[in-house]
Amino acid sequence: RIRVDDLHKSYGDNEVLRGISTTVHAGDVVSIIGASGSGKSTFLRCLNRLETPTSGTIVVNGHDLSDPHVDIDEVRREIGMVFQHFNLFPNMTVAENIELAPREIRHVSRADARALALELLDQVGLADKADARPASLSGGQKQRVAIARALAMRPDIMLFDEATSALDPEMVGDVLQVIRRLADDGMTMLLVTHEMAFAREVSSRVLFLDGGVIEEEGAPEQIFNAPRSPRLQEFLSKVL
Ligand code: ATP
Ligand code: MG
Repeated sequence: RIRVDDLHKSYGDNEVLRGISTTVHAGDVVSIIGASGSGKSTFLRCLNRLETPTSGTIVVNGHDLSDPHVDIDEVRREIGMVFQHFNLFPNMTVAENIELAPREIRHVSRADARALALELLDQVGLADKADARPASLSGGQKQRVAIARALAMRPDIMLFDEATSALDPEMVGDVLQVIRRLADDGMTMLLVTHEMAFAREVSSRVLFLDGGVIEEEGAPEQIFNAPRSPRLQEFLSKVL
């Protein structure tokens, strides 16, 4: 699904990604952990070209992102992304937020878009909120709407960048539950998270980023129970 080869990204003379190579297969759930500033968000943002790499190769579902002729809109249809801050459109209802992209980009009929929105809201446990305004929802509910909105494009890869970091603790569980169900359904996912217990439970593989390189990578049991790199050991001693 995704192949990354020797990815570098610099901002001016700040080299943030310093040679990242990895492969993500269909159905993989890859958690990305690491200290603040290690390049986790930059890496995710390169995968749907919200950032342009300085060098290296990224191939997503067969699309080579460095090819100037690549249809980046098509790539973004195939990759959904959910951020820490949900950015729902406040002047639209919850359902309208979800219907927007299918209608405008995939030219789905109004009725089909509505049916899709209701189905996705049911999937994230918010079937009764279709006609509510985002402002009337809790943070966790808003984030679940944001997930439904991303799913409305029928992506086959989902990227989550600290989707629960801005939430009150009691809201986190509901959002993680939605992500867990996507994992169980076989969605290919990369998630940047500070929820170590969740990463351990849901991931097929964990990447530890340190200073813009993958310092260590492995199965969650190995990463959390038997970390080899001193840098990873130090990181885990702070966050566990
Ligand atoms: P956090 O856990 O705090 O979210 P992160 O691992 O996601 O951190 P990044 O956001 O990828 O880290 O940032 C890595 C480095 O790149 C930081 O030093 C940051 O200042 C720098 N950086 C990120 N985005 C930009 C930008 N648009 N312009 C300049 N520098 C940037
Ligand atoms: Mg980040």
